[in-house]
Amino acid sequence: MPAERPAVTAERFASFFVAPLAVAPTEPAPPARPPRRPPVVRDLTKLHPAFQPKIEGLLEALEALGTPARLWETLRTPKRGEWLKAQGRSRNGARSMHIFGLAADVICAAHRWRCPRSCGFFSNVGEVARGEGLTWGGDWTTIVDRPHVQLVRVGEQGTVRAAGVNLDTALRSLGYA
Ligand SMILES: [Zn+2]
Ligand SMILES: [Zn+2]
Repeated sequence: MPAERPAVTAERFASFFVAPLAVAPTEPAPPARPPRRPPVVRDLTKLHPAFQPKIEGLLEALEALGTPARLWETLRTPKRGEWLKAQGRSRNGARSMHIFGLAADVICAAHRWRCPRSCGFFSNVGEVARGEGLTWGGDWTTIVDRPHVQLVRVGEQGTVRAAGVNLDTALRSLGYA
């Protein structure tokens, strides 16, 4: 007597076709890749026209003082701002004055990121920036940011952020353009 085989019911028959789909292994989600470093913009011409000549003047003055600078970063995309904030390297993220083309970072051409105090580069940056009426991050007390130079004072940043498309008007009202 042949072994009894389960009857192929219509239901079971259908399961031959359905089952492979139902048991298809669910691929574990690929591990989240670390976000790619958004590129740094170093182009002087990307700065706001009210600020660009002041940075040109700063670079020339630093050269004349014997401590030439390397322009590290000018305009920053909001994406890069958020990326830096996530890294703890920017406090303001997408609200930084870099986003508006109103800030630039300069480092010492000779020593890059390892400039010793004895070089005098940053004290020259501070002196020249103050002389041009710029705000220097090296004068800040909460987060000292020595490469950072910006057009407006910290107390005026809110006006810049709120200005939207009326940025030029806002800068004029603050006396910068
Ligand atoms: Zn130096
Ligand atoms: Zn900066």
